Amino acid sequence: MTLAALPLPVAPGGTIGILGGGQLGRMLSLAAARLGLKTHIYSDEAGAPAFAVSAAHTHAAYRHEASLADFARDVDVITFEFENVPSETVEFLAALKPTRPGARALAVTQDRLAEKDFLNRLGIATARYAGVAGSAQARAALAAIGTPAILKTRRFGYDGKGQARIAGDHELESALESIHGAPAILERLVDFACECSLVAARGADGSFAAYDPPENVHREQILRRSQVPSRLALAQHAEATAIARTIADALAYVGVLTVEFFATEDGGLLVNEIAPRVHNSGHWTLEACMVSQFEQHIRAVAGWPLGDPSRHSNAEMVNLIGAEAEEWKALSAQPVALHLYGKHEIRPGRKMGHFTRLSPLAGPPGGAAGD
Ligand code: AMP
Repeated sequence: MTLAALPLPVAPGGTIGILGGGQLGRMLSLAAARLGLKTHIYSDEAGAPAFAVSAAHTHAAYRHEASLADFARDVDVITFEFENVPSETVEFLAALKPTRPGARALAVTQDRLAEKDFLNRLGIATARYAGVAGSAQARAALAAIGTPAILKTRRFGYDGKGQARIAGDHELESALESIHGAPAILERLVDFACECSLVAARGADGSFAAYDPPENVHREQILRRSQVPSRLALAQHAEATAIARTIADALAYVGVLTVEFFATEDGGLLVNEIAPRVHNSGHWTLEACMVSQFEQHIRAVAGWPLGDPSRHSNAEMVNLIGAEAEEWKALSAQPVALHLYGKHEIRPGRKMGHFTRLSPLAGPPGGAAGD
């Protein structure tokens, strides 16, 4: 793309439209405000956490065309904070206003099978997998892949929802029942040394900026904590960055995207999944980097230059899940950066907030992983 063909950046005073009103939308809104930009949140959830910090909001169904058209009229560019936006919604909006990242990024990442096929076509390694529809196909897939394995619905899964582990052949039927026969993917369970992720951004001009990869610990398939630096070797860090760039370029992506990895003992990296958005494992960038993942996404979709992603501190981010948020008083007296998402109801497994603890880098500022 030539410079002349680039859309003008959205100037301060302009409005970013965001589909989805959860904590990611809330933190995107706060970051936009720092740059003098406004946000308009569109969510089907009454009292969505992001409504409280945005200049405007629409509470309507994602397929309500009149509301979508009004929303598009009010904003300069449109983005989203969750990947399960109906594709029809994005297509409808994209005809009215620039929508970033585009429909292709959503189509690939909404479907675990399409995503794994896309990665493998690019030569990017994943766990062994097979698409599964019905129990005969599932038995054949399990015979080919072996156990232990994990069955996941192709669509609408997050935080371990729509997943069942299979330790031996006898558990296949109950696993299929637990996902109610939905189209699925069967994956070999990876014996990983650690999980990590790479949060990166691609600008409208094709520029690219990556954060240091955090090491992520999950509990009951929900992210519990992220820590930088990770235990990845420098070569793995470089490989993870190159993989994220390959994916972003292949999708002509604009915005922040996150690639989740399994790192194996032998130095290998397997991609678990791609999130076409800012990510929970990147929350530490709010305090440990000059430009956070949230500001970076706003910069990218608004057509601004990407900011500096380098890290000036080591960081540990811990999620507050369910009733853990009741510890806010004690945490508020600790030397941590506390974030509470303004959710009215505590529910088990619900992400209510997080906190980040910083510590000095061992080496010079802006250092690479492993310092
Ligand atoms: P996902 O929804 O695919 O991100 O899975 C949630 C979590 O389940 C991951 O972060 C892993 O901890 C675990 N998990 C998912 N797929 C696999 C796999 N193929 N092998 C090992 N662990 C997995």
